[in-house]
Amino acid sequence: MSETIFSKIINHELPADIVYEDDAIIAFRDINPQAPVHILIVPKVAIATVNDIKPEQAELIGKMVLTAQQIAAGEGIAEDGYRLVINCNRHGCQEVFHLHLHLVGGRQLRGISAG
Ligand code: 5GP
Repeated sequence: MSETIFSKIINHELPADIVYEDDAIIAFRDINPQAPVHILIVPKVAIATVNDIKPEQAELIGKMVLTAQQIAAGEGIAEDGYRLVINCNRHGCQEVFHLHLHLVGGRQLRGISAG
């Protein structure tokens, strides 16, 4: 997989507002937030898209969701609620080809649209 901007953030070669980091996952605030809370939860291993997730990475994907759960609690948005989104490829409007989970909240979101 070719290097993305997220590899540079993972390697601390590019600055980011990091809210969580461990051996497997890094989470940082989106540079162009769509809501008061907009955080990207990113596995450190390079997986390009959802299509590229391997069965043996199921635990890692679960950990991404649990990390989002913990961050949402820390941001004080757990009770009101939030949205977790993974965009995939062209029709999903994926821009950065390093898997990431969007955690979006802090305001009333509109219903998800199919269009
Ligand atoms: P995608 O469309 O691939 O699901 O989402 C990519 C997200 O990464 C976008 O919301 C975009 O604003 C964010 N993003 C792109 N480049 C950077 C960057 O250099 N730093 C941070 N923090 N976010 C970025």
